[in-house]
Amino acid sequence: MRTFLVVIALGLGLYAWKSASAFSLPVHRPVPGGVAILELGEPSDWESPPQAFFQEKRVLTVLHNNQWKAVVGISLDHPLGKATVTVRNAEQYKPLPITTPPTLNKKVSSAAFEKSFEVGGKDYAAQYLTVAPKHVELSETNLRRVRTEQPVIRAAFEAFSTTVPSTFEMITPVVGPRSSSFGLRRFFNNQPRRPHSGMDIAAPTGTPVVAPAPGKVIETGDYFFNGKTIFIDHGQGLITMFCHLDSIEVKKGQAVLPGERVATVGATGRVTGPHLHWSIALNGALVDPALFLAQN
Ligand SMILES: [Zn+2]
Repeated sequence: MRTFLVVIALGLGLYAWKSASAFSLPVHRPVPGGVAILELGEPSDWESPPQAFFQEKRVLTVLHNNQWKAVVGISLDHPLGKATVTVRNAEQYKPLPITTPPTLNKKVSSAAFEKSFEVGGKDYAAQYLTVAPKHVELSETNLRRVRTEQPVIRAAFEAFSTTVPSTFEMITPVVGPRSSSFGLRRFFNNQPRRPHSGMDIAAPTGTPVVAPAPGKVIETGDYFFNGKTIFIDHGQGLITMFCHLDSIEVKKGQAVLPGERVATVGATGRVTGPHLHWSIALNGALVDPALFLAQN
C-alpha cells in the first residue's frame, strides 16, 4: 500500500512539474527565416508582463522556466548583423485592440530598454528552373487579382491576439515526404524569384490536413498563387497558413484542437501537383516550420 502511495505521489509530482514547465520553445536559430529566443529577466524584475516590439511589430513574450522570454521571428530578407528588440512594462503601453497589428507608441519609447542580438548567415539551397515565359509573367487581370489578395494575406500574417500559445511544439499537419524546404532560393530562367517561404509536404489530393497546434481560424480564402487557404492564429502573433487545399472544412472564427482535421490536400492555385504548402509567421515574419517540429 505504501509503495502504491509513493508511486501516486511521484506521478502527481511529475505531472505538476510537467504542467509547470512542460512546453518547449522553438529552436533558437537567429538567422534570416529563423527564430531568436531572448531572455528578458525574471518575473520579479517586472511590475507587469513585459511587452516587446521588433521592427515596430509586437513580439511574442512568454514566461518559461522562471524567465520572461521574447520569441522573435526574423524574416528571410532581414540583413545580417545587429538587430534590436524594444521591451517595456505592459503599463507603459496604450491598450491595444486585439487582432490589429499593434505599432510602437513612440511617445513613451524613452521608457523602454533595448535588447540586441546578432543575426547570423544561413546558406539556403538554390534551385534553377527553366520555364516557359507564360508561366512566369502574369496577365493584367491576374496581376490585379494578386494585388487585391496580398493585403488580405499580409493582414492575416500580422494578426496579433493576446492569447498566449499553450504549446510551440507543432504536429506535422500532413504525413508525407518534404518535397521542398523552407528558404529555398529559386531562379526561373536565371531570374531570382522570392525564396520559398514555407515547407512543402507531398501527399495525394484528398489526404487530411490537421491543425498542428490549438488555435482559431482567422481567415480562409481562395487566392491566385496559394489556392484554397486557411490561416490559424495560435496566439500572440504565431500564425500558421495552409495552401493549395482541395477542401476547407473549417470556418473563420472556429476554434481548433491539435490533430483536428481542418482541410484536405489539393492542387489549387499556382502548383504543378498536389501538396501542402505550410507557412509559419511570428511577428509578421515567415519563419522555418521545421524549428517548431518535435524532432528538432
Ligand atoms: Zn511551397
